[in-house]
Amino acid sequence: MTTRVVVVGGGFAGVACANRLAGEPLVRTTLLDRNGYHQFQPLLYQVATAELAAEDVKFDLAKMFHRHDSVRTRTADVVSVDPEAPSVTLADGTTVDGDVLVLAGGAQPNFFHTSGAARYALPLYSVDDAERVRARVLELLRAAAAKPELAEDGALTFVVVGAGPTGVETAGALAELVRDVMEHVRAKVMLVDLGHIVLPAFSEKAHEYAVTQLKRRGVELRLGTAVSEVAADHIALADGTTIRTHLVVWGGGEMAAPLAARSGLPQGAGGRIDVRPDLTVTGHPAVYAVGDVANIPYGDEPALPQLGSVAAQAGDWAARNIIADLEGDGRESFHYRDKGIMAMIGRKAAVAEVGEHRHEMRGRFAFAAWLGVHASLLANAGAEMKAFTTWAEEFYLRPHHRSAELLDPTNDQVPPVGLATTRDG
Ligand SMILES: Cc1cc2nc3c(=O)[nH]c(=O)nc-3n(C[C@H](O)[C@H](O)[C@H](O)COP(=O)(O)OP(=O)(O)OC[C@H]3O[C@@H](n4cnc5c(N)ncnc54)[C@H](O)[C@@H]3O)c2cc1C
Repeated sequence: MTTRVVVVGGGFAGVACANRLAGEPLVRTTLLDRNGYHQFQPLLYQVATAELAAEDVKFDLAKMFHRHDSVRTRTADVVSVDPEAPSVTLADGTTVDGDVLVLAGGAQPNFFHTSGAARYALPLYSVDDAERVRARVLELLRAAAAKPELAEDGALTFVVVGAGPTGVETAGALAELVRDVMEHVRAKVMLVDLGHIVLPAFSEKAHEYAVTQLKRRGVELRLGTAVSEVAADHIALADGTTIRTHLVVWGGGEMAAPLAARSGLPQGAGGRIDVRPDLTVTGHPAVYAVGDVANIPYGDEPALPQLGSVAAQAGDWAARNIIADLEGDGRESFHYRDKGIMAMIGRKAAVAEVGEHRHEMRGRFAFAAWLGVHASLLANAGAEMKAFTTWAEEFYLRPHHRSAELLDPTNDQVPPVGLATTRDG
């Protein structure tokens, strides 16, 4: 008898789960994703700053699994989850039944009820988000290049909220972009955070390194200040400052995707679904939640962080436990192989703390660690490794690389570098 597994979400977690199940003769997997493609979030800021094309970070799920008859992919939005059945209902009203559900719907931005933020700030969680940021950046740069006085109105003031990896990487890349293409016009990139520390999850030395590297790129830091309002043409800070700007990028926090609330399952910190060490939900042995949508307890930690390697490993582990059930073996508690944490502050400036002992690295060695971890995540999506490493090395090592041609309004597309083999089937 075959077991039907329904996986919701084609991110790191869902893809890793479906990949592992693909080799099982007695499992039929349905992988549902509202976009029909896997998006590689770690490189979204490169799309937002016109370094990569959207196609470079999008991987078609049907092509990814076309060699596996046992995995069926479907582009569909899941609007409700019935953990008892178990089944999911799609936006077109149809129901997909399974014997096992794997919820892997990822995260969404958390604006923490900041006035105007949901409407005017641009988050960076999807390829669509990244394309919106890029379009706005290029529009503003082009307008100010044609009419420099627009800078007085904030056209060249870019504000990034959140001094975690997403905000730091985005601020660093934006500063490099404006430095490359706007040599004679003053542009300002500001990084705002309620906390006082840049890259708080990292060591003290890394905080200092990140601050130095950002300042070297001209990024202005506004730390220890909450954002009180975001509007179409300004941002207001709790210290009473108002900054004229037409671009606010939100890297200020995340919470579980709406899928978590739609499941009716117990939600903990960040609205994420609380799971047991074997990744199932208490009282629902046939329902797993993995990746950013879940709080995965680990040792003394209440939950593992929202990272690509956690998601990919948890998705794979859920599949192993599904297989263990079929084979009559016991399920096992999730064991995470900690790859560490890393961030790319800009060209020739990376920081990494590798492995569970957090071996600290900066500069070229940190970049090598970043390359290794991201190459392994990309490999799961079927990306062309040589294209990726060539692009990444060039990106990291070239001192100055984009030209003022980007300011030409007819030059809308960044040429794809071809990271995705799946693009051509
Ligand atoms: C800008 C950014 C940079 C990052 N950089 C790094 C990094 O450098 N290294 C690192 O390790 N981690 C990084 N992360 C974190 C990492 O990307 C996430 O932890 C990881 O993507 C989580 O994987 P996931 O499979 O849980 O969710 P996701 O990758 O978010 O995938 C969820 C999928 O579910 C689909 N979905 C959601 N709801 C529904 C629904 N109702 N119906 C159908 N489909 C649905 C979505 O379309 C999406 O494809 C970054 C995150 C961001 C946002």
